[in-house]
Amino acid sequence: MQMYSESDVDTTCLEGKRVAILGYGSQGRAHALNLKDSGHDVVVGLRREGASWKRAVADGLKVEEPADAVKGAAIVAFLTPDLVQAALYQGVEANLEQGAAILFAHGFNIHFKQIEPRDDLDVILIAPKGPGGLVRRQYEEGHGVPCLVAVERDRTGSALKLALAYAHGIGGSRAAVIETTFAEETETDLFGEQAVLCGGATELVVAGFETLVKAGYQPEVAYYECMHELKLIVDLLHEGGLRKMHEFISDTAAYGDLTRGPRVVDDHARQRMQEILDEIRDGTFARQWIEENESGQTNYRRMMDADLSHPIEQVGAELRSHMDWLEN
Ligand code: NAD
Ligand code: MG
Repeated sequence: MQMYSESDVDTTCLEGKRVAILGYGSQGRAHALNLKDSGHDVVVGLRREGASWKRAVADGLKVEEPADAVKGAAIVAFLTPDLVQAALYQGVEANLEQGAAILFAHGFNIHFKQIEPRDDLDVILIAPKGPGGLVRRQYEEGHGVPCLVAVERDRTGSALKLALAYAHGIGGSRAAVIETTFAEETETDLFGEQAVLCGGATELVVAGFETLVKAGYQPEVAYYECMHELKLIVDLLHEGGLRKMHEFISDTAAYGDLTRGPRVVDDHARQRMQEILDEIRDGTFARQWIEENESGQTNYRRMMDADLSHPIEQVGAELRSHMDWLEN
């Protein structure tokens, strides 16, 4: 495993160079503001009619249409939703400098060949292991979110150096920057969000809530138990792994965890995880998601509506309204 920290970074390769950030959403805003505060020359590339344009201007950034923003940039970061990046790339390719680097925060489009970059370009990845809001907040607090770095193509001989300087600019090297490949980042990132972080965790929460409510317990009590308290456990895991969680929960909870947890996430669940990983690796998932976008996201919207109208959402909204310190 190759890990880089602040002392491995040489920022001279970015001095006097321009960085173009395409997109100003979760990651785009964090990267643009952090790089600017780190002293870099940043320009944000956005559609003039889009809602993000005003926000970026209000944040004090230079904003241009994507095709103009990339002119003269040493690094062009693609930080729009993954499935609009291929068309965006087509729209700016002619204006990319010879030997510039294109940068991604997730390897999807390169790994699944939705973007086939011009031959002279360096192709690099800096993937923060956290949402954009946190990338910004940790930077402001003097910390940083760890990142993965990958070099798909190094035409200039300085692709890794440039990528590390970018990671440094957004605060990532304050934590750690671990080297990976586009394939490893893409496949593990998709697996994590599907099986564990987003898909797995929310299904576990909802299934637990439904089990308690169906058995006649109050939905409010079920909500506190299955959704609200999850954060307390996740914070302990985040700070100190399984050991810290076990130090803070009761021994009754620990005994229940050790004897019952493996019965919920059993061999059947592990088999399903393997199937999900296989579908990521053989391109089935990517194909399905690309087709869903091409057909107007009808199924995606229907499933999202169903998720957001689940009873746990109504109970949760009511209970959270009594905790006005929460950011709803
Ligand atoms: P997002 O959905 O927050 O990005 C929205 C932004 O893209 C808006 O500013 C919008 O104006 C802009 N945009 C949309 N279409 C555009 C177009 N055609 N031209 C120009 N701008 C356009 O995106 P995100 O969640 O920040 O994801 C960006 C990248 O970062 C993705 O590759 C994603 O996989 C990756 N990533 C995201 C996270 C995360 O926490 N959200 C974490 C790690 C990596
Ligand atoms: Mg879900």
